[in-house]
Amino acid sequence: MKLFFTSFSLVFFLFIACKPSQKSSISTVEGKQENREVDLKVRSANQAPKNIIIMIGDGMGLTQTTAAMYVNGNKIAFERFPVVGLHKSYSSDNLVTDSAAGATAFSCGKKTYNGAIGVDSDTVACPTLLENAAALGMPTGLIATSTIVHATPAAFFGHEALRSSYENIALQLADSKVDFFVGGGKKFFDQRESDQRNLINEMEAKGRQVDDYFETPFEQVDIDPLQQFGYFTANDDPLPVAQGRNYLIPATEKALQYLDKRDVADDGFFLMIEGSQIDWGGHANLSEYIISETIEFSNAVDKVLDFAEADEETLVIITADHETGGYAIGYGSKQDSIIGAFTSDYHTGTMIPVYAYGPGSEDFSGIYENTAIYDKLVQYVKSSASRKN
Ligand SMILES: [Zn+2]
Repeated sequence: MKLFFTSFSLVFFLFIACKPSQKSSISTVEGKQENREVDLKVRSANQAPKNIIIMIGDGMGLTQTTAAMYVNGNKIAFERFPVVGLHKSYSSDNLVTDSAAGATAFSCGKKTYNGAIGVDSDTVACPTLLENAAALGMPTGLIATSTIVHATPAAFFGHEALRSSYENIALQLADSKVDFFVGGGKKFFDQRESDQRNLINEMEAKGRQVDDYFETPFEQVDIDPLQQFGYFTANDDPLPVAQGRNYLIPATEKALQYLDKRDVADDGFFLMIEGSQIDWGGHANLSEYIISETIEFSNAVDKVLDFAEADEETLVIITADHETGGYAIGYGSKQDSIIGAFTSDYHTGTMIPVYAYGPGSEDFSGIYENTAIYDKLVQYVKSSASRKN
């Protein structure tokens, strides 16, 4: 009987082992090979997206979206997306992630510790989606309504063991292949405490056009797609939208025009846009702050979707790194006056919606790890650049 059981187990094991594998070999920009459980469908070249846009509403859980939708007249841009999925947001060391580990999961495909920027749980730098795209000749862009060295944008170009190393992250942006950036945090570039360098002068000397809100309002900046571009919207953190910040929509429109023009080789472009302060409204437990930031983010999503609908070769992914506030719409709320209830002034561990539009979007339905967003997108980045061959 024991022998039979052992033989049966062996046969069963062989049966399992012989099942067709769904493992996909993922090569990184450093040439390393990694095997991942990725269920990717084989695409012909004309089904692959050309441009890849990921938009991250920091701290934007389902309730944030719902509250903004009601206050916005019961409509929100995310309703235009045919595919909706959910991701599991936990980090390598905490069921409740922070923005650094959350963004690194999207940018690098690694579950890492809270506070990590573009490094794995052993603090080893991991190649990012943006770096993969740039290495393949795709123009790249980043927009944030926080500083540009804050955790979410930083995780796409930076590699730091600690998210608070803002001046080091600024050095990495100045040396990066990010073609277009718009965000706050000018002081980390030209009023540095760790050295006397002026990174704005250094970036200009290397051929980047750099402007800021002191000198020219964003709408009046004339951007040359033949040059790299950077624009600082604040010396430190930008204002909340309710206090007059108004650059997210024009920056989104100019980024799309710039990247499309800069893509002379027709390789496609990579763009990440963050609605950074939805999270800050959650930390402050302020419904109005959350809602005004989420409505502005949704308006930016509309601009991106208008572009993608006309272009027909653009994959657009909208998601969040985590929820913030344990936010709920309380009893007694009305469509135009939400009574917010909160269980936390920090992030929470709930699953997070993912909205997808365009070629490849159907792969984003279902429930999966946050790292699967990288696993899918990095394949599209590669198929985009090789699309013409
Ligand atoms: Zn936060």
